[in-house]
Amino acid sequence: MTRRLFSIPNFARIKKYGHIIWDIDRTITDEDGRLSQEVAAKICNVAKEDGVFHSFITGRDAAWICANVIVPLQQFYMFADVRNKLDFYGEVGSVIQHVDESGNVTKWFDADIEKHPLRTNQNGIRDKLRKLVYDPDQLSPFQEGMKLETTQEVYFDANGQGYVVNLDRQEVPLCHPYIWSTSKEAFATYEKIRSSDGRISDFDQTPFADKIREVIRQEGMQDQIDLEVIGTAINIVPKVNGGKLGKSWAAGKALLNLWDKKLGRRVPLDAVVAGTISAGDGLADLDFTVPVFPHTVEGELRTKPCLDIIFVGSRNDLPKPGHHSFELTKNIIIQATGEGTLAVHSNRQSITWHDAIGATVIAQVLDYMKLWTSFRSFL
Ligand SMILES: [Mg+2]
Repeated sequence: MTRRLFSIPNFARIKKYGHIIWDIDRTITDEDGRLSQEVAAKICNVAKEDGVFHSFITGRDAAWICANVIVPLQQFYMFADVRNKLDFYGEVGSVIQHVDESGNVTKWFDADIEKHPLRTNQNGIRDKLRKLVYDPDQLSPFQEGMKLETTQEVYFDANGQGYVVNLDRQEVPLCHPYIWSTSKEAFATYEKIRSSDGRISDFDQTPFADKIREVIRQEGMQDQIDLEVIGTAINIVPKVNGGKLGKSWAAGKALLNLWDKKLGRRVPLDAVVAGTISAGDGLADLDFTVPVFPHTVEGELRTKPCLDIIFVGSRNDLPKPGHHSFELTKNIIIQATGEGTLAVHSNRQSITWHDAIGATVIAQVLDYMKLWTSFRSFL
């Protein structure tokens, strides 16, 4: 018998679900960063057999999602039957993608983001922010085997593309340890410059964040633009109605889209919320459980919206008591035990360790939920 890689703190709380909100990285991707084939197959299966909708929400941009999630999903033979059940939310809900009946990927911006100054480059704000870092469009791309002068160095971006910087001629930008991400459309991201093997250096990002804030303040846009400092980058994010974009905002958008567009409001919004489960592996994913809705639909809700979550990160990723997100851990209804396994490879005569987190756990959870008929269609 296979040992279970997850625990269920309270069986009584497991409901029937018609919609899953997915984080992407490390939740449905394997250790090598690729979409887990097993999870992808099961997602398509519950979409087809049980009529379950799926919303994928990530901070990654639309181009990345298309190449790393949509295209691999399209390889599955039943994809054409389920494409209408899947929606992809890039840049945390700012850019939405969908596959149409001819198999083409169509993309549009969220209505609140469409006209946002950071996206439209109002008063040249995007250009001004872009000038504070190294800009790939102003540098020549590095090709493998290229011979460099002693005055030249190669800086790599997050996708592994190198750019040649002329130390003697190039002007050093204000935020010099960063490079502009050219694929972001709603956000603006300063990626930490990487070495050829993709490594980033660890340094205090506060002075740079302060410089960016100063520029935003000078432009009088502090109420519309906010910063988020993460390990690999500084994200410059739109604020909508005074709130910073995040997974709560994105979850609200996904639920609203499902209720309004896909279900044609034939089911109460409360029922859509109750019939949705989320899945993630990081602290930020706990925000899925408290979706934010625009004031215009708040009247539709009789109770404060709250989602269940399957948490497949390690215990270290969870907030400690006293942390502002600690309260949200009560929404975890299925949790990875974190008890990994040893795999014995007889041909190699070796034993390797496999962490019981991420997609490996999700694959097992989906089997369990399917077995106990935890899925159902809204209509
Ligand atoms: Mg993740």
